[in-house]
Amino acid sequence: MAITPAGAIEAGLEQARLVAAMYADAEAALLERIAARVGKDLDNDDGNDWAAKRLAEVTQLRKEAEAIVRRLESVAKKAAQAAVLDTWAEGMDAAVRGAVLQVADAKLRKRLERVLQDARNLGAKRGISAGQGVAELAAQAVSLVTSVHEGALRAVDDIYRNVVAETAGRVLVGAETRREAAQRALDRLTAQGITGFTDSANPSRTWNMASYVEMAMRTATARAAVDGHLSTLRDAGIGLVSVSRLPYTCDRCARWEGEVLALSGSAGTRVEENPATGVQVFVQVAGTVAEARLAGLLHPNCGHSLNAYLPGVSRPAPVVRSKATYEDAQRQRYLERKIRENKRRAAVALDDEARAKAAAKIANYQRQLKGLTKAARLPR
Ligand SMILES: [Zn+2]
Repeated sequence: MAITPAGAIEAGLEQARLVAAMYADAEAALLERIAARVGKDLDNDDGNDWAAKRLAEVTQLRKEAEAIVRRLESVAKKAAQAAVLDTWAEGMDAAVRGAVLQVADAKLRKRLERVLQDARNLGAKRGISAGQGVAELAAQAVSLVTSVHEGALRAVDDIYRNVVAETAGRVLVGAETRREAAQRALDRLTAQGITGFTDSANPSRTWNMASYVEMAMRTATARAAVDGHLSTLRDAGIGLVSVSRLPYTCDRCARWEGEVLALSGSAGTRVEENPATGVQVFVQVAGTVAEARLAGLLHPNCGHSLNAYLPGVSRPAPVVRSKATYEDAQRQRYLERKIRENKRRAAVALDDEARAKAAAKIANYQRQLKGLTKAARLPR
């Protein structure tokens, strides 16, 4: 099905979500391995011996964790690369569709479609060669995504050692059973998942493996959708785009809403030709796409998109009604976070009672999420 420029970005974000889900599953599997080792011999009354035995098993745990990460690596590399390449192709398709949809005149529409389709096919051949354009972007995404693997293995080690130390320390004080102490330590030290990953753009914030991968993939796929789109427009000789308008907007993007941007050149008034009539028209250009991007437009999680601007033909950008409101989207993220949090709880549960408690919470949040996505028609 043909796709619009905004739709291409959304398709990319959905792909990013799928790659992140692989990491969330692997994270849960790693936490399960930690809990399985911590849970051994908990109720045997051999005091300090328990901690010594557990620490002697660090190497085995490491091997189990490595097996999980290797399995993840083989699928995640392919998935991350495919996500970027597919989204870039969606962006190219969107270039054709987004321009053609604006034209009422049948003759011009046909001519435009042919030119754009040729540009799209040319770009598809050229863009996938190694070391340039989308291939470069895909390689970067793969390298960011797989960069968490070593850190995850180190973190598994750290979490395990800390849980054992904390459990042993608590028992010496003697108020609670070793099992209770172990569960408490596991819950506390894994509440945020396998964490410690930072993004060079914002080093003060740390992520867990799944959220880091989701952030990296969202950025890469959104970029691929826009770059695929723009490369096709450029090849088709279309040098202007307009910025979509949203029912709600972030402060950083407000100044660009509905404005016309150029792929190259400078801001100001230009004389351009109406492609339908050949008549010269004035166009007010607010800046280049590169300038707008540097100033924040199309930042991570930006809802804006670009579309071809055909002088004298394109109408002012309509307000794109997104299917969901900002509040709905926030609520969706919150519920997803809660589900992941309780999946981690279930992964480190040392007994059926703790597992059932987490499972009940997961089911409850999933029910709420289902109701919300149905009512608000959010992407799932
Ligand atoms: Zn924005």
